[in-house]
Amino acid sequence: MGRLFAIEIVYRGIFQKNLAKNISRGIVLAARHAGKTGISFGRYGDSPERNGIPAKNFAIVATDDETLQEGMAKYEPREVDITIAVDDTLCKGVESWAWYGLQPINRLLKPGGTLLVTTMHDFDAIISMCHRKDYPYQLALLRGIPSFSGLWVYKDDHTDVRVLGAIARVLPDLFDLDAVEKAIREEWNDDLKVASARKAADRLRTRVVLPTEGNPEKPYAFELPRWYELREGLSIPAIPVGQGVADPVTGQVGGFRPARNPTFKKFSTRTMRPVVDFDKCVKCTLCWLQCPDSCFDVTPDGYYDAHMEACCGCGVCEAVCPVEHCITMVNETAFTDNRSQWEMWKQDKDAYRAWVQDKIRARPPRQHGFRIRGQYVEEIQQLVAAGVVDRSLGERLAEDVTAEPGEASAGG
Ligand code: SF4
Ligand code: SF4
Repeated sequence: MGRLFAIEIVYRGIFQKNLAKNISRGIVLAARHAGKTGISFGRYGDSPERNGIPAKNFAIVATDDETLQEGMAKYEPREVDITIAVDDTLCKGVESWAWYGLQPINRLLKPGGTLLVTTMHDFDAIISMCHRKDYPYQLALLRGIPSFSGLWVYKDDHTDVRVLGAIARVLPDLFDLDAVEKAIREEWNDDLKVASARKAADRLRTRVVLPTEGNPEKPYAFELPRWYELREGLSIPAIPVGQGVADPVTGQVGGFRPARNPTFKKFSTRTMRPVVDFDKCVKCTLCWLQCPDSCFDVTPDGYYDAHMEACCGCGVCEAVCPVEHCITMVNETAFTDNRSQWEMWKQDKDAYRAWVQDKIRARPPRQHGFRIRGQYVEEIQQLVAAGVVDRSLGERLAEDVTAEPGEASAGG
């Protein structure tokens, strides 16, 4: 019996689909150059691959065919050597993975395994988002702006090969940098990509995360009925109809809040969330009408409050709002709770205005493709300024991106 390696790549559906495929395929190709055998495959959570919704690819590698077959006889691994989060906001919240229930990002990591995150944040920010584990694991930060593309455009900013270089550093038993270089030459035949992979391995930052560190919340626990509590036949309770909303100041009850599935995805779907400036809102209803997840509550005074227990962060409301700067999408890492913005505004309007200004002032660049090309060029310039990519490479990437035909996807 040989050794089995398992790596999962958690990515954002559609936006990072090609990126995740490149990574899992690249892992297997590099492993083959290291004398191993493997397979890469993908799967969704419990919803189809939508814009921004978390999905997974797996790369399963073994030292011999028999070990690989034995490993692949299981539908998917129960534990992995490396979890790759190609967007740092995936570390927040829990995601529903079919019959496994709601899982935090590091759930499948084996003791001593590595969580590899693409991020511009530091260790403390990422650790505060990740749920605690009972045993130590390694956190590896790959510095870079998470790589998003629109539906028709692949953003070749070398995140794929940079991840391969990082893996060679944190799991050298799987493959080394020479194997990565051979795989890159075979797949892309690109010297710059080889340089990027090697540089990423050099610059990777790692640190051990202890069981005392991280988000202390219990990720989720299902209360399953005992056999004698089961009802006759098969029945699935419908979601209740919903109810009015209470004004936190006047006590007036009105409007409508649809009831929602309490155990569906919990916050991991969002890279951004809408911040609403209620002073600017003209109550046109467009955000409520167009939100693909029906997540706006209608308030007793006729405003529309994006309910953060339901919002997937698609950005449609910002795109359709006719009033400039009334809705602004802000990076999810800027928030630590899911409070109702309308309630905050009702309780203290001056404090709310200051809160909005603070959130939208330093709004980090992260978009879902609505303003795609110019944004890529800006991002690349930032990467150059931060020393993440060389100036010559940055210029070439900018040319590639602006020259590529195609449009961003819209919708949720
Ligand atoms: S439109 Fe999208 S971003 Fe806006 S509230 Fe609905 S789910 Fe959230
Ligand atoms: S789309 Fe904008 S202006 Fe219209 S109701 Fe929503 S927040 Fe208000």
